[in-house]
Amino acid sequence: MADKPEKKPAAKKEAAKKKKKGKLVSSLYVLAGERIQRKNKFCPKCGPGTFMALHKDRVVCGKCKYVEFGRKG
Ligand SMILES: [Zn+2]
Repeated sequence: MADKPEKKPAAKKEAAKKKKKGKLVSSLYVLAGERIQRKNKFCPKCGPGTFMALHKDRVVCGKCKYVEFGRKG
């Protein structure tokens, strides 16, 4: 006797999760744009292939979070 219809809130849950994840990823990729990556050097820890992100007075590796202060004057 199953007079109780099963509720499936999966669709709603999935949509919320997808939206949150998408926002997070996009914010990360803004920092590591191709244009910025090509101008910068490789990360000494991660090796060739991993570029450093350029900041005002430092470069930061987006992969291992290695920071290098390289401003002179
Ligand atoms: Zn690194």
